[in-house]
Amino acid sequence: MGIPKKTKFLRDAEKISSNLSHRSTILFNMGKYHAAVAAGNKRYANIDEAKNRAANIKQHALKNLSKYLVEFESNHIKNGGNVLWASNSHEALTHIKQILTQHNVTTVVKSKSMTTEEIELNEELEKIGIASIETDLGEYIVQLAGEKPYHIVTPAMHKSKQDVADLFHDKFGVSKDLTAEELTAVAGENLRKKYIEAGAGITGANFIVPDLGGIAVSENEGNAIMSTAFPNIHIAIVGIEKVIPSYKDLALFWPHLSQHGTGQAITVYNSIFTGPKKQDELHGPEHMYVILLDNGRTNLYANPSIGIALSCIRCGACLNACPIYINVGGYTYNTTYQGPIGTVITPYLRYFDDFVHLNSACSLCGKCSTVCPVQIPLHSLILHNRQEAVRLKSVSFWERFFIKLFRIGASKHTRIDSVGGGVKNMFFLLLGSKVWGAKRTFPQFAKKSFRSQYLKKDKKNSL
Ligand code: SF4
Repeated sequence: MGIPKKTKFLRDAEKISSNLSHRSTILFNMGKYHAAVAAGNKRYANIDEAKNRAANIKQHALKNLSKYLVEFESNHIKNGGNVLWASNSHEALTHIKQILTQHNVTTVVKSKSMTTEEIELNEELEKIGIASIETDLGEYIVQLAGEKPYHIVTPAMHKSKQDVADLFHDKFGVSKDLTAEELTAVAGENLRKKYIEAGAGITGANFIVPDLGGIAVSENEGNAIMSTAFPNIHIAIVGIEKVIPSYKDLALFWPHLSQHGTGQAITVYNSIFTGPKKQDELHGPEHMYVILLDNGRTNLYANPSIGIALSCIRCGACLNACPIYINVGGYTYNTTYQGPIGTVITPYLRYFDDFVHLNSACSLCGKCSTVCPVQIPLHSLILHNRQEAVRLKSVSFWERFFIKLFRIGASKHTRIDSVGGGVKNMFFLLLGSKVWGAKRTFPQFAKKSFRSQYLKKDKKNSL
């Protein structure tokens, strides 16, 4: 048993927030993102209206989730594909391993997918001797470095160009002075062979499109297209919440996702995969499998106060807006989904007690809710989770004890005035710092309260 997740979070947050090199890389990369988004926002005639519409469409899709999922399943099967359902990581992994062993696959190429991170696919495939190669440049970099994605959209955001050059020098012996373009070419050259060797391509999906029986995938490098075009098998692992009602909604969602994800007018490649290759088609996989993953999503769905978080289109905008994320970085969360959205959903996707502490790492500034393209009120959901933590007694004994004592003391003037400022300051120092961290500066109580000073003055004046 390792250290508690909350203790680890506090320890890692303290360490990384004072790392100036990390901060300068993040601020540099975030700066580019914010400039692109600010410029891109001007492309909208009415951005609030677009957000409103996107939010309504997603909420409608979620309200009719079972109908749309069944429609998708039926149409995808008509297209020649296979649909498998997985209620948790174990079931999803069992499906994938069965497909790969049945087709004697020893190497897979993967395009960027947070659901595969969620089920720890690479690690599990490695255990049974199947090599899983990341083909998205950012994912490829973190895989080479033996790391996890740092950010849901830009996995290697924490690495500078020089960090990548040093990594490629160590792994491939190339010069440390290569430019960003040359480094990209090195990765492209290495990956090209892998697409041809691989027996299967694995992707996630940005949207489930029921009326076409297809999944929509957006990407900038063409690696998802190559991962699905060369290998004989395409497996897509998709969270059940990714549903939109119709392909017609992509006209809104494709540019909306790219604008909020990267500031681009539209992502470079947007594909809809509806099934395996048809008889008269030359290219494409012989078999396509879509695995619809629950993995805790129905816990969110069943909770009317928090279910709206399932509208998320994983654009990453709330991470980029969050002052906590910028300071503590992606790895400190110790979760697949970081930042405000990860803070909200992870306690329900995994164990509530293990991850609810993330909700305390929030200043409630509300910037995440403001930037969200589907209007998820993230900061209100964070507040809701804090209330749940109290209700379910998931907060520590000391915190409950401190708040109880404070409530008893502060609820009556006579009680709070019965002790001097020194005792009150001592109380906050001893208990408050134990609960809220030793580094917090507490407000100082005056030696005598305003009320007692006023009463004394009043008495003097009346003499
Ligand atoms: S919660 Fe909203 S802003 Fe955050 S990743 Fe999801 S869609 Fe984007």
